[in-house]
Amino acid sequence: MVGFPSEVDVAVIGAGAAGIGAARRLAESSSVSVLVLEARDRVGGRVHTIEPAGFPCDRGAEWLHSADRNPLSPIAQRKGFSVHRRPPEWVSRLRRSGESLEAEADWIATREAHLRARKKAAVEKTDCSLASLLVPGGRWNELLNATSTWGNGAELDRVSVKDYVRYEDSGTNWRLREGYGRLFEVLAEGLPVARATAVSRIDYHGPAIRLETPRGTLKAGRVIVTVPTSILAAELLRFDPPLPDKTTAAAGLPLGVDDKLFISLSGSFPGIDPDTFLVGSTTSRETMSYQVRPLDRPAIYCFFGGRWAASLEREGEGGMFSFAAWELARLFGNDIRRQITPLASTAWLQDPWARGSYSYARPGHAEDRAVLAAPVDDRLFFAGEASSPNFFSTAHGAYMSGVTAAEAALASISRLTRE
Ligand SMILES: Cc1cc2nc3c(=O)[nH]c(=O)nc-3n(C[C@H](O)[C@H](O)[C@H](O)COP(=O)(O)OP(=O)(O)OC[C@H]3O[C@@H](n4cnc5c(N)ncnc54)[C@H](O)[C@@H]3O)c2cc1C
Repeated sequence: MVGFPSEVDVAVIGAGAAGIGAARRLAESSSVSVLVLEARDRVGGRVHTIEPAGFPCDRGAEWLHSADRNPLSPIAQRKGFSVHRRPPEWVSRLRRSGESLEAEADWIATREAHLRARKKAAVEKTDCSLASLLVPGGRWNELLNATSTWGNGAELDRVSVKDYVRYEDSGTNWRLREGYGRLFEVLAEGLPVARATAVSRIDYHGPAIRLETPRGTLKAGRVIVTVPTSILAAELLRFDPPLPDKTTAAAGLPLGVDDKLFISLSGSFPGIDPDTFLVGSTTSRETMSYQVRPLDRPAIYCFFGGRWAASLEREGEGGMFSFAAWELARLFGNDIRRQITPLASTAWLQDPWARGSYSYARPGHAEDRAVLAAPVDDRLFFAGEASSPNFFSTAHGAYMSGVTAAEAALASISRLTRE
């Protein structure tokens, strides 16, 4: 266990992607002492790889989104990770989900029209929800809602158009065979991380900032806060004096819900190639997205989100599995039930240190990301996926925000030294 000093130059709160990004950047500067304080007994936060059946399963982030612009792609390669570049067939999956090629083409055209409408609406003065752009009674409205629960963690009525269009998607998505979570474990190696050390209060009245933890009080010259917006909005981490702007901004950027169920698939599965993508239903938002035999593994990875995922979390793994088995049997016949068994599942909303999956902006709250990211008093810095202006909701957006916050903290220290 990392020793617990009484004082450091920079304290980083949270050892998720943002905290690891910040700590790595700070560690490059030999002149500052650093400590990362992490509530969990592991690093990675919402990026976490497990091996319930001898192959990696990412409980949280799995895809290197915008992989050709993602700084973690070259870092993973340098660290010896094997990058799988096969593009996911997210667009063409309807033909494998019981729809005709004509229906799939109609879906693709409808989806593109909706994306164009989002861009057009985003330049209007007043923000609106993605749902307000739906064609009333449109054939694919439920599927547009389902895809929003996967992409945003929330249905279309909850999501700001202005914020949505700021996300930069290059359209290139890669995976790491060893798991995205393993990459963050490797990136955290050698960093000073105090695990199982939740910070409950940050007192910045005096010249030294005081952080209250179960292991005692730590004094720090600078603090980088990377906890999820769910923790800030609920004031589970308190500031003294209070920071109402941060609390309000965090509430405008709630975490949506997305979860995963990992299923083992035994025997052969005729007609289904490795890395096949499916949706359970094209007419209900309460449906799962499936990766069958991902990376040629004997498994099915199921993904589901939104209000419905929150209720499935309460039913537990049994409820998730019986729903997935029912949808898969409807698509492939009842025999598939004999080939599948549950391996593991997630419940990110119930996770006390996440309380959700990734942030979206409520309509009218697109500017909250900048409010969240703004430093306070040139001593408190904020990072985390929700503070990223263009790569929010992702692991690389979080990582980059951590690096940016670390550079701002270093610049503020060097200003102080010059004074
Ligand atoms: C199901 C799912 C699928 C996803 N898929 C993808 C994907 O394919 N690609 C992608 O790029 N992203 C994906 N994401 C999103 C990505 O995982 C997150 O955006 C990113 O990991 C967030 O990193 P962070 O550092 O901002 O926050 P976190 O990872 O939440 O890190 C914050 C850390 O702070 C700690 N903490 C909280 N409170 C305290 C406290 N009081 N004191 C000390 N420590 C505290 C937490 O334990 C946590 O470790 C997915 C997420 C989920 C849940």
